[in-house]
Amino acid sequence: MNTLIDKNIGTVEFSSPKTLWLYFILIPILWIDYSKIDLKLSLITFGITCLTVCLGHSIGLHRGVIHKTYNTSRTFKNILIYLFVLSGLGSPLNWIKLHYYRDYWQNRQDCPKYFAYKHTIIQDYWWNLHLQFTAKDIERYTIPKEDLNDKWILWLHKTWYLHNIFFMIIVYILSDLNSLLVIMFLRIGITILGHWYIGFATHKYGYSRFEIEHANESAYNDVILGLISFGEGFHNNHHAHPKSAKFSLKWYEIDLGWYLILLLKRLKLIHNVQEAGVANTKKQQAKKNNRFKWSFPWNQ
Ligand SMILES: [Zn+2]
Ligand SMILES: [Zn+2]
Repeated sequence: MNTLIDKNIGTVEFSSPKTLWLYFILIPILWIDYSKIDLKLSLITFGITCLTVCLGHSIGLHRGVIHKTYNTSRTFKNILIYLFVLSGLGSPLNWIKLHYYRDYWQNRQDCPKYFAYKHTIIQDYWWNLHLQFTAKDIERYTIPKEDLNDKWILWLHKTWYLHNIFFMIIVYILSDLNSLLVIMFLRIGITILGHWYIGFATHKYGYSRFEIEHANESAYNDVILGLISFGEGFHNNHHAHPKSAKFSLKWYEIDLGWYLILLLKRLKLIHNVQEAGVANTKKQQAKKNNRFKWSFPWNQ
């Protein structure tokens, strides 16, 4: 695994907690009785997915804490981070750090193998879902101290899985085993695998209208993945406009997260929302292509 990264940058090692959590979630899914899934159970599961993935992950952690594309109160920010924890994706602190590491390296030519997307989906499944990168020199990534030392984030970093187990017990008490498997295991399983797959696919396939100069990765957009991932699949737009709370740039790019952001703004829960095309959200090295650049699996 040392070939994946230079030892002066950090280490990539097998992570037992990460792997254990993944299969602790995935294996019980095999026992689900799909004939017992009714409309009510489907709607509850979908509703919790929207709250945790769209509100918690995409709007709260990604567009809020990491990219700071809007302002909000301490309380609302903490609620969003808590919703992220219930997505089952893992520690918010680990995801914040990983995002800074990836951004830093993907925007450079000397991007290590581990962060570049020159590998296959099988390799990516192993690297991303079972291995853990530890940075040697965390200072170089300029992660804001206010986030690294945030008491709420640090507490959730230590306890994130306990909150999920607590909710598993609650769901079991309030309903039955099959509902527990659907609401907590199937939902979290789809979230983890969906999040991983969208990260992989949007760095490999799709269309891009921006080329990030001197960068190893400019990423791609995908209209279908963008729609089902609450906007996260418009990844070329996001690489070019990291300061924008809105990931879509054209009418055919439907960013559901953005509509929720507009609602939160209207409810006065967030303010000072940065929007591509309105505010100056574009990265300096992002150059617009004259034509769309396409990348398909068959011409890799
Ligand atoms: Zn990002
Ligand atoms: Zn990216």
